[in-house]
Formats: sequence, structure tokens, C-alpha cells
Amino acid sequence: MSNTFKINRRYLKRISNFFKIELSFGLSLLFKKAVVWGNPSILMIEPTNLCNLKCQQCITGSDKLQREKGFMSYSQYCKIINQLNDSLLYLFLFIWGEPFLNKKIIEMIRFAADKGIRVSISTNGLLFNNDKHILLMLKSGLNLLTIVMHGGPTAHSYCSYNNSSENEYIRVINTVKKIVKLKKTFGFLKPIIDLQFILMAQNIHEIPYMKQLGVDLGVDIISFKKISLIDANNECDIAKYLPSSVQYSRYVKTTGRPSMIAKSPYINGCRRLWLTSFVCWDGNVTICCNDSHASWTIR
Ligand code: SF4
Repeated sequence: MSNTFKINRRYLKRISNFFKIELSFGLSLLFKKAVVWGNPSILMIEPTNLCNLKCQQCITGSDKLQREKGFMSYSQYCKIINQLNDSLLYLFLFIWGEPFLNKKIIEMIRFAADKGIRVSISTNGLLFNNDKHILLMLKSGLNLLTIVMHGGPTAHSYCSYNNSSENEYIRVINTVKKIVKLKKTFGFLKPIIDLQFILMAQNIHEIPYMKQLGVDLGVDIISFKKISLIDANNECDIAKYLPSSVQYSRYVKTTGRPSMIAKSPYINGCRRLWLTSFVCWDGNVTICCNDSHASWTIR
């Protein structure tokens, strides 16, 4: 049996699993009772929860993560992917931490991509050592590479949010340039290169410069994420980080506690509980993307 045929048959299984999940979610809403069919179509896996940066509103960077730290082993990773091979359509290879700190990260991407699973990774872009390393990443089958410049785009706003030095700012800019150049030179169609900024009070006025920087660096996409606070009740952090314009904030003010709540609470239930699972580096599985400390594990 040819490989293409095998992959297509697998793909059909994955699509039919996806519809089972959607249907069971719909029935759960209708009957107000959990109906669960199928396996997750999307997985978020944490290659590590360690990081080389210290972003101020990140629970890893600010050392507030109440879990042991470590790296997922390659063998455990392969076991997980093999177990879910009939259902997985998309894999996010990051949760809390810098994925490229895991020495096996390129092999991890390739292992999933070879099975026809679309893989996306988000990185601070500081750990690409040389052209050879970048080429290995470009050849790995990765679909989407997001390089996060946090509080950027200027050296000042970048460094003051993630407590780095100007050298790091220069390094990440040069790395993006190199990735774009090598992708073009060798004619790779993927990964899509996404330059991402975290919108916060300190950099909101620099949005035009963020867009210009993305254009100058030649990336495929420029994306923006609204800042999440570690503690949405902390008045100092609210004043320091949240943009005053509601348009750029993921929170709205309330009169009680908490004083800030997310703009779009899941009034009709959250599809992600059916569709996506989150696997921490130690193999623990949690059902919610907001469960950073893995308090509700299901293993
Ligand atoms: S680079 Fe990412 S994981 Fe690391 S401290 Fe910053 S936000 Fe957290």
C-alpha cells in the first residue's frame, strides 16, 4: 500500500473523528449533559516548561508556575503521537516554556509532520545557533513558526518587558532576517513565518512600527496578542500593563471581584474541552488551557 494512500485513509479517520467530536459537543449543549465521542483533534504538548527569558506577565518567566520543571522525553512524545495518530489534525508544540530548549525539538516536529499532522510552534527565537540549525528547522515539516517579540518592537520596549539585554533584541532581529533569507534561498514553502507582538500599555502606541518592522523583515504574517495578566485582581499590574482602550484589552472592568474579567466568557460552554487536550512535559494531561498549574489533570 502506498504511503499517500495510507496517509489519506488516516486523514479520513481524523476527519470523521472531528465530526464525532463536533456532534457530541452539540448534543451536550442541547441536552445539558456531557456526551463525549471521539478523541482530541488538537493537541498542545509542552516540550519543556523552562525558559531562557523572564517575561513579566508569564508564569514561567516570573517563576510562579506551581509545577516541577523538566523536559518531555522523545520516547514519551512519540508514544503520545502514536496513540492519537487516528485523530490528530493539528499539534501545537508549546504551552509554558521555550520549546527550542528541548534538544529533541526538531525530531519532535518531524515525527508528527511525517504523519501528516500540521505542526505549529511558538518561540522567542533566541536559540537558533547557526544557519545549519535554521535549515534543519525549515526542513522539518513545520507549518507555522511564530516568533514572539513580546513587548517589542523597539529595543527599549522589548528589553524592559522580558528583562533581556539589547544583545538579545539584536539577536532575535538577526535570526528572523536569517530565517526569511534561508527560506527564500532554498525555496521552502513552509513554515509560514509569523512575527508576533504582545499588546500592552507600554507598546500600544508603537503598533505602526510593529507593522513596519514585520514588512522590513519580510515575514509572512504579523500578529498581535492582547496581554494576559497573571493576576487580574492586581491593581498595580492592571495600571501598568493593560491598555486603557478596551479595543486592545482582553478584559473588561467589573464592579466586584475579580475587578477584571475576560471579555468573552464561554456562556454556552467551551468547545476546546471536547476538541483539544493539553499535555504537560511530564505526561500529565489537563483539560483546560487556563489550567497553567495542571490542577485538574485527567491522568
Ligand atoms: S519567552 Fe514565553 S515562556 Fe519564556 S518567559 Fe517569555 S512568555 Fe514566558
